[in-house]
Amino acid sequence: MATTRTQVGIIGGGPAGLMLSHLLHLQGIDSVVLESRTRVEVEGTIRAGVLEQNTVDLMVDTGLGDRLKREGLEHHGIELRFGGRGHRIAFDELTDGRAVTVYPQHEVLKDLIERRLADGGDIRFGVSEARVHGHESDTPSITFVDSDGNEQKLDCALVAGCDGSRTETRKLIPESTVRTDHFRQYPFAWFGILAEAPPSSDELIYANHERGFALISTRTPDVQRHYLQVDPNDSVDNWSDDRIWDELHQRVDGEGAEIKDGKIFQKSILQFRSFVCEPMQHGNLFLAGDAAHTVPPTGAKGMNLAIADVFVLSKAMDHFFVNSDRKLLEAYTATVLPRIWRTQHFSWWMSSMLHRLPDESGFGHRRQLAELDMVTRSVAGRTLIAENYVGTPLIF
Ligand SMILES: Cc1cc2nc3c(=O)[nH]c(=O)nc-3n(C[C@H](O)[C@H](O)[C@H](O)COP(=O)(O)OP(=O)(O)OC[C@H]3O[C@@H](n4cnc5c(N)ncnc54)[C@H](O)[C@@H]3O)c2cc1C
Repeated sequence: MATTRTQVGIIGGGPAGLMLSHLLHLQGIDSVVLESRTRVEVEGTIRAGVLEQNTVDLMVDTGLGDRLKREGLEHHGIELRFGGRGHRIAFDELTDGRAVTVYPQHEVLKDLIERRLADGGDIRFGVSEARVHGHESDTPSITFVDSDGNEQKLDCALVAGCDGSRTETRKLIPESTVRTDHFRQYPFAWFGILAEAPPSSDELIYANHERGFALISTRTPDVQRHYLQVDPNDSVDNWSDDRIWDELHQRVDGEGAEIKDGKIFQKSILQFRSFVCEPMQHGNLFLAGDAAHTVPPTGAKGMNLAIADVFVLSKAMDHFFVNSDRKLLEAYTATVLPRIWRTQHFSWWMSSMLHRLPDESGFGHRRQLAELDMVTRSVAGRTLIAENYVGTPLIF
């Protein structure tokens, strides 16, 4: 079995794993990223698309900003739509000029992979059977089978579990004695489409309608991303293209808004879950991103939270390697959890304010409309949404 020695072994080459590897490199720390999918699959999977100001700033500050600045679409507000009218949340006025940028997650990954490889980084695509050993000791290792079918071993000082929501590394934190999982399943889901169409709006529209929620979003000037609230047990087979466009028109069209139809080329149903595991560390294993927490997509936070985790983790690892001091590593969970729970709250709040609940009475919907009215009328209410949507600064 061939053995490689590195300082940090990273399982998972998504936003968390690749950004961690990049930040560690800039601090002079070696890492190896083990990714089960091929490079083509990683770079071709369309998921998140809204980058907080912090994520953009971090990318620009660490040399990943060229294409992002050229091709990313900066958005200075969103529209909350209810009662047939739009109500703008103006980020720039409410947050001192901060904004979000629409730039697809797979483009972020392309930039990270290109940069890691240009910097001599070690990313192993197409690996299988990655197993962590001895993470409670000072000499952890990871065994895996490489893309050619050869058994390999990675000796390292620290292991990062960045393997997404279907994580295996989380299971290495013993559930009954050490780990607590906090979980919530929502009684609704999102039916998402990608369509070749012109943008329907300059900014994202979040619509509360008596037929259910709709989100009008975008990925590029030619590709639009829209979502409809559906039952979690619904199936894509129940939705013809005509039915989708008809439902979007009914839920969104009105004063100042009209959806532009196009050719739908992807349909999927996205379940709504909130999840946090505590702690996010066990011995020399550290979880980051979806491996440790997931949020419902209403606040557009999943990828941003993954990046915020590894920003902190990279600093803690740097402190450990430079000073032989575990203080910041041991403080990792306590440092990142407040942001994670604030983000959980924001994602839950936006979800519960904008979606119809299946057993909701007329009282429930009128109460929601009153909440939206109160929040959008008040400068304090609009500021609360704006600050959380663009993201609070990354502080270490
Ligand atoms: C449809 C959709 C829309 C979304 N929209 C948004 C949005 O607008 N804004 C936002 O911020 N977030 C959004 N999210 C969430 C966001 O995509 C995730 O939160 C983000 O990908 C988390 O990054 P991660 O690196 O933690 O995990 P992942 O991106 O899941 O990466 C984990 C990686 O680990 C690999 N892996 C898994 N197991 C193993 C193993 N055993 N060995 C080796 N490799 C392994 C996987 O192949 C994967 O590449 C969306 C998600 C979906 C599904």
